[in-house]
Amino acid sequence: MQANDIFVSPEAALDRMVLGRMVLGIGESGQVVSEAGASYGAAPASCPLPGRAAVDQGRPQVTAVPDANPFKGDGDSNGFYLSKSRLNRYISCPRSYFIHYELGVSPLRRDAALLIGLSTHRLITAHHLARKKDEFIDPDALLDDFWSRQAREGDDEAVAQELAEARSASLRYAELFIRDAPLDPLEIERPFSMPLVNLDNGDALPVPLVGVIDLVDRPNGVLRPLEIKTRARKAEDWQVRVALELTCYAWWVRQRIMETGAREPEEIPVGYIHIIKTKTPSIQWQTDTRTVEDFLELYRTARAVLAGIQEGRFYPNGGTHCNWCDFSAVCGKKRDEIVRIFGDAARLRLWEADLI
Ligand code: SF4
Repeated sequence: MQANDIFVSPEAALDRMVLGRMVLGIGESGQVVSEAGASYGAAPASCPLPGRAAVDQGRPQVTAVPDANPFKGDGDSNGFYLSKSRLNRYISCPRSYFIHYELGVSPLRRDAALLIGLSTHRLITAHHLARKKDEFIDPDALLDDFWSRQAREGDDEAVAQELAEARSASLRYAELFIRDAPLDPLEIERPFSMPLVNLDNGDALPVPLVGVIDLVDRPNGVLRPLEIKTRARKAEDWQVRVALELTCYAWWVRQRIMETGAREPEEIPVGYIHIIKTKTPSIQWQTDTRTVEDFLELYRTARAVLAGIQEGRFYPNGGTHCNWCDFSAVCGKKRDEIVRIFGDAARLRLWEADLI
């Protein structure tokens, strides 16, 4: 299976990367590589990186892959990689993973909540990047640029109204964040691509782990990755504890620490900053830590997901999450709805894959 390459101008590619974050990467010569349709690597192999045995002996560890374009695998992985989005989607429902990443099917129009989240992120990111240069952003220009591209031919008045409200909401949430979550981050939208290693024995997955960290700050002298979320209601306490994405980001921090020759850190701080979109919006902080045990679990989870993908195990895992799954019309075999939501070409791909 070949990577799905789309030619766009480098300028547009950069923009799409910021907006799409986990969705698109910039290839050589301004080529954008989508997550959909990438091929994947061979069976897990051993890696020369030292494992936990080495850690226990107090020896420094080394990281291998320089952070460049995170949305590209290395030579051995044939362009395939794992990311928190891929891991979470496969764990939640392998059928959903198959439709999204293998068939490259996604809704023609992203839903309003997702667009609000993207627009809010974009404003916050631009604000912090500008602050680093003692500059200010022009929020209206940023909003115009983003929201003008969400309109579709044939949109009726109700859709236009919904988009206008979503645009205003994203500005309101970004202003709230900037006012109530004052930060001076060291890193903004930090991309990474690195091996995922079993700290017990030094084995590494044959594909890299890639991602983009929203913000990285350094309270108490230790790097802390932060993820910004827009949510309809407050997060439960346990959610920050089990969040796989924060473990991925802490793994990146760990590698940075180990590169300095320091000893294995006992724990790495991580955090969520939630923008709660209730009638009176608010900010909710959630902080936690990650340890070697969490990294071992991340490795085991990622290895199981990779094996499932390589072996083509794409079974449907129905449950309450079907209520907010993009593909409920597919699993419900509602053909008219499928064409309306995904388009005719997607319907054909789903039909060829024997899903409808
Ligand atoms: S509707 Fe449910 S079973 Fe179907 S792809 Fe989505 S999560 Fe999986």
